[in-house]
Amino acid sequence: MSQIDTPHIIHLRPGKDEPLERRHPWVFSGAIDRGDTDHIEEGDIVELRSSEDRFVARGYWSPENIAVRILTFDPEETIDQDFWTKHISDALEVRRALDLIRDGGAFRLINGEGDSIPGLIIDVYASMAVVQAHTLGIHRERTAICEALQTVLGSGLKTIYYKSAETLVSSTEVLDSTDELLMGALPRREESIIDERGMKFYLDVVKGQKTGFFLDQRDNRSLLRHYSERRRVLNVFCYTGGFSLAAMLGGAERVVSVDSSERAIDLTARNMALNFPDEEGRHEELAVDAFEYLESLKGDEYDLMVLDPPAFAKNRRVLSRALNGYRRLNRIALQRIAPGSILFTFSCSQVVSPEKFQEAVFTAALQAGREVRILHRLTQAPDHPVNIYHPEGEYLKGLVLYVK
Ligand code: SAH
Repeated sequence: MSQIDTPHIIHLRPGKDEPLERRHPWVFSGAIDRGDTDHIEEGDIVELRSSEDRFVARGYWSPENIAVRILTFDPEETIDQDFWTKHISDALEVRRALDLIRDGGAFRLINGEGDSIPGLIIDVYASMAVVQAHTLGIHRERTAICEALQTVLGSGLKTIYYKSAETLVSSTEVLDSTDELLMGALPRREESIIDERGMKFYLDVVKGQKTGFFLDQRDNRSLLRHYSERRRVLNVFCYTGGFSLAAMLGGAERVVSVDSSERAIDLTARNMALNFPDEEGRHEELAVDAFEYLESLKGDEYDLMVLDPPAFAKNRRVLSRALNGYRRLNRIALQRIAPGSILFTFSCSQVVSPEKFQEAVFTAALQAGREVRILHRLTQAPDHPVNIYHPEGEYLKGLVLYVK
């Protein structure tokens, strides 16, 4: 189903090829000569040319603000089966260099623009790959992507699950159910377990959030483990309990996990039982609202806290409301964390820059009247790489604070 090079040619308006010389992977609609786009459908592969008819790039079309997402700047490269096999294979080499390829392990294989394939996410969970399309252009290539995955990952790959119902918002086409198996069968629940540095997690790709698990916090969980010994730990927005398990492994005195979703709390409880079957007393999970729970604290219960909320801002229009949210959350936590504590605080909103996030935490510290030192600045794990030409890809920001 891969689209062999098509005759769709789009010209850029005069002077508009300059940003592409800086290899940014998006072309905005204002840069395009609209006369060329009449017969082009959403998701079609297009060739971009300068106003002087010089080859610039190939990518796929969307009738929206980001009109073309670039797949290649190489005039010799067409978007065919070889393209997908080559690029997925290149990405696997990077993960091999990161030493992430091992039995039962989980890693992000394709991170959209970070791996030069805008719109595509692929997470590998042991013998299963979860493919997520964010655009119709990628959706239309899913069979070719599936074939490439089988070529690159070989016989170790048993299942490919395509999970795009939530991410695929097409402007011109109403898609029916887009979650489906592209290869193999879903593993039974008890077989669907991944391993992250000695911690085991049940995986629920079908009903779970995103592709089923948050791999981007892997290194930050390891760091938390290092700080946990004898601490009383509160993990707020725990989802599958990743930070909670890390704290337990690190020797925490007591760990409490909070999430407003019953399903997340159920997953956390099951993961705890899987890893620490004989230590029921050391961990507790609560299905409650994070803000309400934090507000109910007296102030000396916890000396290590994790705040990893969902993205408060999905776009620039709601940026100031999101910053208010981060200020408020961090203020409440900083008012109630015990003296001599460690706070891990995160934002995964792409539109909130590291500077803006630090400013929000600064205001929170000031309002809480606490003395705060920054110990670490954290980001997403390296299997979520950032394309140097697309710095917007750096979405996860974290600060580790010492609170006197
Ligand atoms: N820290 C997790 C990922 C967090 S994802 C990890 O390492 O895997 C964000 C979580 O916040 C989701 O599980 C969601 O259910 C939860 N959530 C969203 N709003 C909430 C609220 N108001 N109170 C508590 N939890 C909330």
